[in-house]
Amino acid sequence: KSGFISIVGRPNVGKSTLLNSILGEKIAITTSKPQTTRNTIRGIYTRSGQEKQDDLQMIFIDTPGIHKPKNKLGDFMTESAIGTFKEVDAVILIVDDKLSAGPGDKYILDLLRQITTPKILVINKIDQLDPDDFLQIYKEYEETGVFSKIIGTSATEGKNVGDVIEAAAEFM
Ligand code: GDP
Ligand code: MG
Repeated sequence: KSGFISIVGRPNVGKSTLLNSILGEKIAITTSKPQTTRNTIRGIYTRSGQEKQDDLQMIFIDTPGIHKPKNKLGDFMTESAIGTFKEVDAVILIVDDKLSAGPGDKYILDLLRQITTPKILVINKIDQLDPDDFLQIYKEYEETGVFSKIIGTSATEGKNVGDVIEAAAEFM
């Protein structure tokens, strides 16, 4: 199995930390060389299975600049982001322990509604999240109907990071 995955989310939610945790020691290639004008490969995860069909290769792509467009350049960036979402096998939206989606999260949600690519929500920083608050965040995103799967993680502790890999692998 192999495929492309786009990781998106507001600054500081833990995108880089989660990606590092996914790549872990199994890191094959990390590069920030631009692949196209709109995509940057951030890392490649590979795993060899017992059987050939269990082999897994995931290529993580950074989606630059998703925020509400203020000008023509912003519009272009948004168009690029949508283009990227359409080309990948799955999109992972990462949010953190902040209760209720802010304007930035809502803007990304609206973009994600416009594409049919499978979407996974990662609620990160569960190590500092009260279970009731986790449930509140979970429900808010579940109600949007946008996500195929919702996973709580702690990227810093490596908690449930394997679940994210497995969830994404299902869409390849
Ligand atoms: P990015 O801007 O989305 O790439 O976020 P970073 O990966 O740079 O993380 C932003 C901050 O959040 C850093 O200080 C991380 O150490 C912290 N962070 C990331 N993941 C977690 C987590 O699972 N738990 C906690 N407590 N902090 C985290
Ligand atoms: Mg980062």
